[in-house]
Amino acid sequence: MVTLLKSARILDAERGTGDGTRVVDILVDGTKIGGISDRIDSREGISIFDASKYLVMPGFVNAHGHLAMTLLRGLADEVALDVWLKQYMFPREALMNGDDVYYGSLLGLAEGIMSGTTTFAEMYFFEDDVARAVEEAGVRANLSIGTSSLDDGLGKLEKSEEFVVRWNNKAEGRIKASFGPHAPYTASPAFVRGNFEHARDLGVIVQVHLHETRKEVEDFVAAYGASPITYYADQGFFDNPPAVLAAHCVHMDARDAHILEDAGASIALNIQSNLKLGSGIPDYRLLLESGVNLCVGTDGAASNDNLDMLEEVRTLGLVMRGSTKDASRISNASLFAMATSNGARALGFDGVGTLTEGAAADLVLWDLDDESLCPGNNAGSHLLWSANSRAVDSVMVAGSWVMEHRELSGIDLEKVRFEVGRRARRLANG
Ligand SMILES: [Zn+2]
Repeated sequence: MVTLLKSARILDAERGTGDGTRVVDILVDGTKIGGISDRIDSREGISIFDASKYLVMPGFVNAHGHLAMTLLRGLADEVALDVWLKQYMFPREALMNGDDVYYGSLLGLAEGIMSGTTTFAEMYFFEDDVARAVEEAGVRANLSIGTSSLDDGLGKLEKSEEFVVRWNNKAEGRIKASFGPHAPYTASPAFVRGNFEHARDLGVIVQVHLHETRKEVEDFVAAYGASPITYYADQGFFDNPPAVLAAHCVHMDARDAHILEDAGASIALNIQSNLKLGSGIPDYRLLLESGVNLCVGTDGAASNDNLDMLEEVRTLGLVMRGSTKDASRISNASLFAMATSNGARALGFDGVGTLTEGAAADLVLWDLDDESLCPGNNAGSHLLWSANSRAVDSVMVAGSWVMEHRELSGIDLEKVRFEVGRRARRLANG
C-alpha cells in the first residue's frame, strides 16, 4: 500500500526540525518512508491523506516496561520498591494466567498507542501471550521473559532461549526477543552470566533492572563486595558483551557509569516510577556527561501509574533541569531523541525513530487544533512542554494505521476494558 501524507508539519530530533515549522509531503511505501520532500506529486494507486492540520513525529519508543501490570494499577501507593514487589506484586503475579497477561498487555498497548508510542520494551511472564497481543495491536516490541534464579534458574534460561528462537524477528520484523534476567536481587550472578552468554550467542539484547534503589546496591555490596555493575565487570560479564539495556540506574557512581559506557550499554530512565516509589533521582550530570545511550521508559503501570511517554519525557526534562539547576543542560531535541531514536537503537531496531527516507513508517499525527498545541509559536516546544496526549489523532506502524482518528484498528477496547476489569478485581482480592 502506498499512502501520501500531504502538507504535514514534521518534528524529528535526528533531522534537526525541532520547531515543527517545516511543511512537507511524506510518502509511505509499504512499511517504510519512501520519501519526504516539499512537494511529492500523487500518482495512480496512491491513497492521499490530508495532513495539513497535523504535526508528524516518529512514534515514541518506550524503552522499559511491563505491559500487563495495568492489571495491578493502584494496589499500593505508599510503599518502597522491596515492599511493593514482595508484598503486593509478586503474590498477585503468582495468581495470573496467560489470558490475564494477554488482556492486561492489550490495555497497556492501547494506552501506549493512544498517547503516541509505537515501540515497546517489555519484560514479564506468559510472554507468548504478550507477543500475541503485540501482533494483534500491530505495534513494534522487544519482548523478554523476566526471569529470576530464586527457583530453577537454569530451566528458566532454557525457556528464555526457546522464547527468543520462537519470536525474534517475527511479525514481519516488528517483534524482537531478548533475555530478561530480572535484577541483581532476584537473579544470582551465575544466572545473569548465563543470560549474557546466551544473548551473545543468539545475537540479541539483555534487558535487566540495575541499581534501582540504594538498598539494592548496599545489599549487593554486603554480599559480594562491589556494586552489581562493578561486580559484573570484574567477573568479565562486560567483556565482549551482548547489547545491554539497563533499566533505572538511579544509584551509580562514576566507575559504574564508565563501565556501562565502555560496554556500549543503554540506560532506560524511568523517572516517574523512581519518584513514585521513592527510589531516588539519578545523578543526571554524570549520566549526561557519560557516553551511555540514554532512553526513556515508563516502567509498569503499577508504579508510574500510566504509560504516557509524553508525560514521562516531560517529567524527565523537568527533573533533569531542576536537579542540575541548569535550564540549558538538556535541549528539547535531546529529550525527543531519548524518547525516540535512542530507544530504538537500544532495542535493536534499525531505521526506527526517525523521519528519513528508508526509515520505518512509524508515525504519530498530533492534532494542531488541540488547545494544548496552540498558538503554534513553536510546535516542537508546545509538544514537549505543553501538549496533552489526547492530541494524538492517528498512529501508523510499519506503514499501517494502528489508530486512525482515535479508533484503534487491532484492539477491541470495550472488550479489553471489560476483561481487564473483571480480572483485576479477581487479582486484587487475592
Ligand atoms: Zn521494571
